[in-house]
Amino acid sequence: MVSYKELGLVNTRKMFAKAVDGGYAIPAFNFNNMEQMQAIIMAAVETKSPVILQVSKGARNYAKGAVEYAKELGCAHPEIVLHLDHGDSFELCKSCIDMGFSSVMIDGSALPYDENVALTRKVVDYAHQYDVTVEGELGVLAGVEEEVSAAESHYTKPEEVIDFVTKTGVDSLAISIGTSHGAYKFTPEQCTVDPVTGRLVPPPLAFDVLEAIEKKLPGFPIVLHGSSSVPQDEVDTINQYGGSLKAAVGIPEEQLRKAAKSAVCKINIDSDSRLAMTASLPPATA
Ligand SMILES: [Zn+2]
Repeated sequence: MVSYKELGLVNTRKMFAKAVDGGYAIPAFNFNNMEQMQAIIMAAVETKSPVILQVSKGARNYAKGAVEYAKELGCAHPEIVLHLDHGDSFELCKSCIDMGFSSVMIDGSALPYDENVALTRKVVDYAHQYDVTVEGELGVLAGVEEEVSAAESHYTKPEEVIDFVTKTGVDSLAISIGTSHGAYKFTPEQCTVDPVTGRLVPPPLAFDVLEAIEKKLPGFPIVLHGSSSVPQDEVDTINQYGGSLKAAVGIPEEQLRKAAKSAVCKINIDSDSRLAMTASLPPATA
């Protein structure tokens, strides 16, 4: 058993409390190799920002060394969370906690409500013994993430959130309000076209649902998955060098900022890092 505290990591508790008070959100970046992890830490040190490094189960073994790297870059007290994204079983969450993760997500959102509650409760009971924080999820996001996919989204039901949070004891709650996994968050039919730029404009997030959830759980940390903004200049670069990312569209940054001012205190970003990495390769090797 390795405690995350020995690795110099922190859990999300204080970080989220400060973010909710301050009206901002912490970026939670997925990464899949050492170079991406270094870039994320470099940016966090440069901007003096706390950061959540998150991995899905395939990338667990790359997670070591983040704290040392931040210190090497001159940050004496890095605020880094190492978080398991979309844990799908108690055993996986336990094994991550035992190897030094400071936070885990248990995603029982595809299960019937009562089973989601029971599974999440079991993970919380184990995690809290080691002061590890837990994210649960209610509602289903559309899109594809490593080993997680759903054809359509189902918004979180505000009338369920108090019961879920009370029964499970989770530290934060991932909700579904129209964000989506992957670089293709919306079909062209769901979008309108900007008359000036000709770019696709995605439908707005369901801020009414977010507001209703906030009213039920004042000050409780809310998480948005699938929130890459899919920068169009990077999409253009990739297409220019032979890529075929037609009609890739993300969540506009102003909507993310608006969400961050509310109880949303963790915003998950995966596709953007993949796009940035891919877009940087052709010019460098051309
Ligand atoms: Zn996700």
